[in-house]
Amino acid sequence: MGTPAIAGWFRAEPEPALLGSRCTTCSTIAFPKAKSFCGNPACDGTEFEELALSNRGTVWSYTDAQYQPPPPYIPASDPYVPFALAAVELPEGLTVLGQLAAGYGVRDVRVGSPVELVVEPVYTDEEGERTIWRWKPVTEGASG
Ligand SMILES: [Zn+2]
Repeated sequence: MGTPAIAGWFRAEPEPALLGSRCTTCSTIAFPKAKSFCGNPACDGTEFEELALSNRGTVWSYTDAQYQPPPPYIPASDPYVPFALAAVELPEGLTVLGQLAAGYGVRDVRVGSPVELVVEPVYTDEEGERTIWRWKPVTEGASG
């Protein structure tokens, strides 16, 4: 398994998970991690602990990215290949954007459908393979 393209935002093992933060004062959860102030306007907490977020969520919105997004988007291919982007709502109440897993497109998801977090290679540089999180449609146990 390669190295995260964005250090500290997610882990690949023991199971893929996004790494958020929890305020030690009011327990507000944030992703990306809160660093210096709490996302809760009523809280003046300044200390946070790392928290692995749920690796499953439901699709809240999705889109086909037909044009290359601006930086800090990392192009995975040249020329640009359109990909599907999903906003996924986690049980923690956060919504996290991510590409759909390799091989999946907007036809594989709909609003409210379950997805799980996977970590996939995005590009390779002189340090080796770099990885990013993606959302993979959950199809097991599908009925009608
Ligand atoms: Zn707080």
